[in-house]
Amino acid sequence: MEPRDIDGDLTEILIEEAEIRSRLAEMSRQIEADYAGKDLLLVGVLKGAVMVMADLARELVHPVTMDWMAVSSYGSGTQSSGVVRILKDLDTDLHGRHVLIVEDIIDSGLTLSWLMANLKSRGPASLEICALLRKPDAARVEIDVKYLGFDIPNQFVVGYGLDYAEKYRNLRSVGVLAPHVYSGENN
Ligand code: 5GP
Repeated sequence: MEPRDIDGDLTEILIEEAEIRSRLAEMSRQIEADYAGKDLLLVGVLKGAVMVMADLARELVHPVTMDWMAVSSYGSGTQSSGVVRILKDLDTDLHGRHVLIVEDIIDSGLTLSWLMANLKSRGPASLEICALLRKPDAARVEIDVKYLGFDIPNQFVVGYGLDYAEKYRNLRSVGVLAPHVYSGENN
């Protein structure tokens, strides 16, 4: 059940909690097969990937370690620019490790493209991406996502870790935010 104070803030639910869970389970089986016999380091990108990381990691029947990174992407308004600053770096040395980046959503792809280059320079044995959501119509750079949950339309979504002004992260499903919320009316 969703928190009660969001009635009217969403125009539609795009992906229900149960669909997310079952897709994460499928992705986990694929990850287990691909990393059989290998140590896997999951790198979550704060804050949006918290829910995906928590559910994916618990679904995996595979020993993993987890680390977190926080980045901020400079840009105007909701547009990402690709100029990224590290707010919190990893505690783990990536050299020789099998690294899987866990992301909430790929929009323009600029943030992840920067992150891939940054982490690659640290000498991991392998580096791949797992993302719950992707907006193909918003792509400005090509990103090779090995494990993808869902392609979604080019709309602003919230829930399951994704926020608007730090709200809605605790919704169990992913929904489209109603325009009146971000146009400032009724706020
Ligand atoms: P990119 O660099 O791919 O354009 O931006 C990726 C980041 O922008 C995501 O990690 C997320 O923080 C934010 N973002 C992009 N699209 C959405 C969206 O529809 N909803 C929310 N809440 N955040 C988004």
